[in-house]
Amino acid sequence: MQNNHKALQATCDRIAQAAHHAGRSVEEITVIAVSKQKSIEEILAIYQAGIRHFGENRREELQKKAVALQHLTDLKWHFIGHLQTRQSQAVVQYAHYFHAVDRLKIAERLSTQLLQLNQEMPVFIQVNISGEDSKGGFLVDNWQKDSQQFQSLIQSIETIATLPRLKILGLMTMAPFDASSETLRYLFNNMKMLSMALQEQFPLLSMKELSMGMSRDFEIAIEAGATYVRIGSAIFGERVK
Ligand SMILES: *Cc1c(COP(=O)(O)O)cnc(C)c1O
Repeated sequence: MQNNHKALQATCDRIAQAAHHAGRSVEEITVIAVSKQKSIEEILAIYQAGIRHFGENRREELQKKAVALQHLTDLKWHFIGHLQTRQSQAVVQYAHYFHAVDRLKIAERLSTQLLQLNQEMPVFIQVNISGEDSKGGFLVDNWQKDSQQFQSLIQSIETIATLPRLKILGLMTMAPFDASSETLRYLFNNMKMLSMALQEQFPLLSMKELSMGMSRDFEIAIEAGATYVRIGSAIFGERVK
């Protein structure tokens, strides 16, 4: 527990430093402690240290932990992984935010279920900014030059924006695992430019949030404008698998 507090403090210090370096206020940045594969006790320790946002990427694990911790009414769960439509019920029920709208079908499914439960959900549109095959999301690796790619994203967002009960907060991405700092800087800056281009397209949808940055790259993401960082191992220690 003590070690976790130290790791959390060190991470928060690095976030504050990166924000300061970029001339940004640290209040603009929400830290999501990614607790996948971590125990209820480990989550509680981080909660007691003041963190209120937690991230999970598996439906069963989210459900189990959300039920166990439901007495902590200010704890917010972020679902950050790819979601199959047939598994969406528990996510609608237990998650407060959804970061992985990577296709129309999942948006439609969430919207239908939210209507049934009379709930709303803030969501992020997941984009693939690097073009890596293994990365999910709407492909935007060449959006500035390829107008068809950009138009296709715009059309998808237009459709998603009309779905009831979904509130689009902004964009989410995952950077390549092995990219250099230069490449990461380029990709995260490109995300910021894409985000601004979309805000111009959709002035009425205030979709200005950027969910990007993980343990190995959150400082670069913050310098480029990230407003939600998803940090697992730097806070909780390495995962086993
Ligand atoms: C696991 C995961 C993270 C956190 O990864 P770390 O490298 O442990 O910080 C962030 N985002 C997503 C989508 C993840 O699956």
